[in-house]
Amino acid sequence: MQNLNFQIAEFLKSANTLAQCPPDEGHEIALLGRSNVGKSSLLNALTQNKRMAKISKTPGRTQLMNFFTLEQECKLVDLPGYGFAKVPQRIRAHWNKTLSTFIAERQCLRGFVLIMDIRHPLTELDEQMLQWLANRELDTYIVLNKSDKLSKQKALLAEKQVRESISAMWPHLPFNLQSFSSTKKQGVDLLKAEISRLFGVNNQQV
Ligand code: GDP
Repeated sequence: MQNLNFQIAEFLKSANTLAQCPPDEGHEIALLGRSNVGKSSLLNALTQNKRMAKISKTPGRTQLMNFFTLEQECKLVDLPGYGFAKVPQRIRAHWNKTLSTFIAERQCLRGFVLIMDIRHPLTELDEQMLQWLANRELDTYIVLNKSDKLSKQKALLAEKQVRESISAMWPHLPFNLQSFSSTKKQGVDLLKAEISRLFGVNNQQV
């Protein structure tokens, strides 16, 4: 039972349309979360590379999806932070269409990692996103980030509440969750193990 080595992650390419995506082969896990939830910080913590997610945020790059290669034909795809109010309506419509199609149809997707703020989980936008994920019925791993902002007890309560709400709203969605802190690097090892599991590394599928 070995985890993937996330430190060897390398930026592969950006894509603004489905046609620009790398070939639909190998194994992919998609990272999603609303803007400012800490998705970049999480990617950096995961890969132990402070510059990794910067690529996704370089000004002037309006690309949608950023692909990172790992070992064994595994890729991470960083999807754009949803709910960014400053994005013009025309671009938002393009994102919605492209992302929903990507989530619904990308064959090499093995699962999703959805990042939420542990203090404000399940916002309307998170629920919209979960609906897309639930339609696909792939394994979904929920990361409740910024847990350093809550006491241990409150974090556990938030985990319980989110678990119950998701089970009630999407009874067929296979999911699990954990709390996490990018800042304090708490939960990184568990997250690595869970993403490796989503890829199928631990059960020899790759
Ligand atoms: P993104 O927009 O989702 O990529 O979010 P960023 O990674 O850029 O983080 C947004 C803000 O949240 C930044 O000010 C980060 O320093 C902060 N942040 C990210 N992760 C954590 C965390 O685990 N704890 C705390 N307290 N702040 C965090």
